[in-house]
Amino acid sequence: PEESRAVIIIFGGSGDLASRKLYPALFNLYRRGVLAEHFAVIGTARRPWSDEHYHEVVETAIAGLNPEPAQAHAFAQHFFYQSHDVTDADHYITLKNLAAKLDDQFATGGNRVFYMAMAPDFFETIASHLKSEHLLTDVGFNRLIIEKPFGHDYASAKELNDSLTATFDDDQIFRIDHYLGKEMIQNLLAFRFDNTIFEGIWNKKYIDNIQITLAEAVGVEERAGYYEKAGALRDMVQNHVMQVLSYLTMDKPKSFTTNDILAEKDKVFAALKPYDLATAKANFVRAQYVGAEVDGKAVRGYREEEGVAADSQTATFVAGKIMLDMPQWQGVPIYIRTGKRLTRKSTQLTLTFKPVAAPLFGQSADSKPDTLTIYIEPSEGYSLQLNGKALGTGLTIEPDELRYRHDPKAAAAAPEAYERLINNVLEGDQTNFTHWSELSASWHFIDAIQAAWSQEPNMPTYPAATMGPQAAFDLLSRDGREWFWQP
Ligand code: NAD
Repeated sequence: PEESRAVIIIFGGSGDLASRKLYPALFNLYRRGVLAEHFAVIGTARRPWSDEHYHEVVETAIAGLNPEPAQAHAFAQHFFYQSHDVTDADHYITLKNLAAKLDDQFATGGNRVFYMAMAPDFFETIASHLKSEHLLTDVGFNRLIIEKPFGHDYASAKELNDSLTATFDDDQIFRIDHYLGKEMIQNLLAFRFDNTIFEGIWNKKYIDNIQITLAEAVGVEERAGYYEKAGALRDMVQNHVMQVLSYLTMDKPKSFTTNDILAEKDKVFAALKPYDLATAKANFVRAQYVGAEVDGKAVRGYREEEGVAADSQTATFVAGKIMLDMPQWQGVPIYIRTGKRLTRKSTQLTLTFKPVAAPLFGQSADSKPDTLTIYIEPSEGYSLQLNGKALGTGLTIEPDELRYRHDPKAAAAAPEAYERLINNVLEGDQTNFTHWSELSASWHFIDAIQAAWSQEPNMPTYPAATMGPQAAFDLLSRDGREWFWQP
């Protein structure tokens, strides 16, 4: 690969995301030669660390990748630490001088990547100081990477976007949705548009319904501070679920270029019409997990978790039915669900096809609708469920499964989402990032649901290690359907 040149400034360099995701991703890019001699990383955070200590942090963060010691050491020499309070203008001057010095020292061509990897409350402050203290260069590129959450509702997202676009042009802003960096999400367009057997039947004429499940087995872990204010709808649906939905329903782009893909995605987001209160209440359910005994061990309920209010009204589960206002999807429900403390961790998408109009063997009790399931994680692959004849002289229909999974070893060795996405930023490719038109449409949709919920005082519950409340099953059974995946 061609070597990238840049000074990469990470706001939140001592944080969890930086250590768990960003340093390993950068090291893998280094091993692949995307980063080589001409790059430097400045980590900033409040703690007063020395460069030596920072090198240890970076080397510890990449230890799990089994690096050659000499290579890990050489990599760490590209890292510099600056103690920095993001609200103090003077600190940006020091930062600017350090960046200029490293630009010379590593011959990075004036290219800058600013990575906002800290609490979202600071995103606007950082952006405005980057402008007022002139941290953007006139030579080379300036690119901003911004983590989630992108706002809390439409109004705050708009305010944040306005403050970013006051400093950066839209084509310099890379809004992370790490689902877009996942192998099987990136595979969706290839799978849909490079297969004759699917391309022509991916519409309302042949598809009965679409299901999107993003299930987590873990609870809120150490992230209650953030999660209490967000909840499942904002944390997962507004971003990841909506992005997956757009990849599943968009029309074929004219070409595989950023603008053509975005144009088709935009049509989906434009077709996402916010529900009125009554429809929102009827089509979306929420709930919070309560404690249960799982495999002989007591699992705490959400309200007993550290940092969670004893009367918390935060939903840890959401299920909903979405209808797109597009001619090719008229009448096709898209059922979505996501939550914490569900039975098993899995992200999977299922398309159920309509039954054949006049089956030769009649409506056999044993025949099932054809279904296609795409497995995103933890395993990666597809399954196609079809009807066939059971072995023997009689004529009984029975469902058969065609199953493909990526080899787990090969899948584990493939680049992780953050590596792909940082690589995209260095190349200036915005395809796998979210755009303002998408965000604004999805926030309008989410706000309408949140408004309906805020009128209902009682938070429904579900026991830990189940697939959510009964209402999530009723949502489909009232339509004469059921969830395909019922672990
Ligand atoms: P964290 O709390 O572990 O780290 C926050 C960082 O910000 C620390 O380095 C801290 O020193 C620094 N900081 C805080 N206040 C500061 C100030 N006033 N001046 C300078 N530095 C300050 O957070 P995190 O989990 O790494 O998350 C960072 C961002 O990434 C957030 O936007 C989060 O939503 C997002 N994110 C995190 C994860 C994850 O798995 N941790 C996943 C997806 C997105």
